[in-house]
Amino acid sequence: EPSGRRSKETHKLNVSFEFFPPKTPKMEESLWASVERLAPLQPEFVSVTYGAGGSTRERTHATVKRIIKEAGIPAAAHLTCVSATREEVDAVVRSYAEVGVTHIVALRGDPAAGVGEKYVPHEGGYINAADLVAGIKRVGDFEVSVSAYPEKHPESPDFATDIEMLRQKVEAGATRAITQFFFDNDHYEAYVERVRRAGIFIPIVPGILPIHNFVQMAGFASRTGASVPQWLANRFEGLEDDPETHRLVAAAVAAEQVENLRSRGVDDFHFYTMNRANLSYAICHMLGMRPVKA
Ligand code: FAD
Repeated sequence: EPSGRRSKETHKLNVSFEFFPPKTPKMEESLWASVERLAPLQPEFVSVTYGAGGSTRERTHATVKRIIKEAGIPAAAHLTCVSATREEVDAVVRSYAEVGVTHIVALRGDPAAGVGEKYVPHEGGYINAADLVAGIKRVGDFEVSVSAYPEKHPESPDFATDIEMLRQKVEAGATRAITQFFFDNDHYEAYVERVRRAGIFIPIVPGILPIHNFVQMAGFASRTGASVPQWLANRFEGLEDDPETHRLVAAAVAAEQVENLRSRGVDDFHFYTMNRANLSYAICHMLGMRPVKA
């Protein structure tokens, strides 16, 4: 190990993988192939997102249920409070518990009208993510994770407001934050410092987005407040019609990012898999993880 770097062996890595609920039987098949490929890496948990405006309520439920029952991996279900009453949200929480979910990723969510529209709480609904966390905790003793934004959320006027929201979520019972994706590790490190200075000490787990499609990712990033550095754009320049090279570059970029975070003392990683195993698997392999045969 280069000097000043943390030894991989002495600090156990914990990874988690995020999936979205499949829309079609074909997508279901590829999701499942990815789950089976990644499961032997023994993630701490996998998580399943909740579609915008609660549009995937049933599919999120069915997906976590299948992962818990068939893959035997702890699965966290995402949940938002968009367009639903408290009673409706509480009913979803109870239905998660019935299939063995003990961990919920609680988000405010975005307006059904789309990202960028002003968020208005549902009449009779939870007003924000902190209120939702408190509601979940009233339903049962769930582990609750929440979001964090190293470059601040697009709606936050400043970091102080952003971190105040995180504090409220922690006070309501959240014990882990998972970050929006980012590509400049200095943003992450500076954010964690701000959070610690604010007296918040829960793990801030970096969310890593392996880049399966640079052009698509850049469009998405601009809506979420994640910046795309010029050096990153340069690396993918001209690869639109060269999927093979795109894949190799993406693996190198993500491995480099994760290695660098590791050298800064990070032991926990959350991967936005996009329901594909190849890049996440390769990065975990580079980090020294090996599959455990069942
Ligand atoms: P919050 O934590 O409540 O707020 C985010 C920030 O916005 C705050 O820090 C605060 O500074 C600012 N803010 C919020 N309200 C106000 C206000 N009234 N005044 C001033 N500032 C305010 N979306 C989904 O639909 N489904 C998912 O499954 C999903 N999973 C996600 C997982 C992760 C790890 C992350 C990072 C995001 C996820 N999202 C998901 C996206 C999320 O719903 C959006 O980013 C949404 O815009 C904010 O929800 P939140 O819980 O992060 O918001």
